[in-house]
Amino acid sequence: MTVSERPVKRRQDYDGVSSFPSATEPALASRLQVGVTATIVVLPFIALGVAIFLAWGQGIVLTDLLLAAALFVVTGLGVTVGFHRLFTHGSFTARPWLRVALAMAGSMSFQGNLIDWVAVHRRHHAFTDQPGDPHSPYRYGTSLRGQLLGLAHAHLGWMFTGNQSPPERYAPDLVNDPAMARVARAFPALCAVSLALPFLAGWRISGTLHGGLTALLWAGLIRIALLQHITWSVNSLCHVIGSRPFKTRRHDRSTNLWPLALLSFGESWHNGHHSEPTCARHGLDRGQIDPSAGVIRLFERLGWATDVHWPDPDRIQHRRTDIS
Ligand SMILES: [Zn+2]
Ligand SMILES: [Zn+2]
Repeated sequence: MTVSERPVKRRQDYDGVSSFPSATEPALASRLQVGVTATIVVLPFIALGVAIFLAWGQGIVLTDLLLAAALFVVTGLGVTVGFHRLFTHGSFTARPWLRVALAMAGSMSFQGNLIDWVAVHRRHHAFTDQPGDPHSPYRYGTSLRGQLLGLAHAHLGWMFTGNQSPPERYAPDLVNDPAMARVARAFPALCAVSLALPFLAGWRISGTLHGGLTALLWAGLIRIALLQHITWSVNSLCHVIGSRPFKTRRHDRSTNLWPLALLSFGESWHNGHHSEPTCARHGLDRGQIDPSAGVIRLFERLGWATDVHWPDPDRIQHRRTDIS
């Protein structure tokens, strides 16, 4: 065991290179939770393999791709604009109907219910890359082995551990919001809708059951798998690879990773986000494409979003790491 793999005893003793005290604790999740998580994680991924096998000889139907793209955008923005920027960080105020619509769209992404998602993410910001962070890639230290284990943990391993982010503590605002509590309870039903919609659309458009099934595969399961892995890459890669142009809190190693910017709807400007968490725009610099911020701007123009926290140029300038 190298120095960096030896866990520190207490959070206060964390030095930025050792593994976390929790790294040696066994997984706490119940069998039921592990089963549900495994289904949510593995099923879309298996579908990807099946789809590649099927597409090999026959090609892909354009309708399935268009349906997949439409649902990817709607559910993806539900996560980035809704779950993340609105509900976790309060970067703007939305009309009540828009809150419900965004909460429902995000729930259809198979990333857990709204309230648990927000609680985990707020905890991630409270303890970024130090003991207490639910999905830090530095959990097992900074040795090569620790870093690889940490990336796997940050990407999806963390979901198989017990829930350490009680919603009553981290998301009391949503627990006490009857409309949001209802959407959170409807998570299983919204997952079913997320699969039924492409199946029914594909069936209706093609007029055949086979058309419904290929739409279910591409615009249902594969679309879900793709969005899941992009969201999880922000948790894993965007704390390890990329640039750090802005100051963050001690130990926070969030990065900006431009290749993921478009597909993640602007979320991969993760260093900018950790530097200014309540800002509605994550791509703080010129040319940093941020489709979620564009959508929030549109909502603002339509009068559906108010009190939007746009970046303050003077503040941003002071947050740069290349000036002090
Ligand atoms: Zn982060
Ligand atoms: Zn955040």
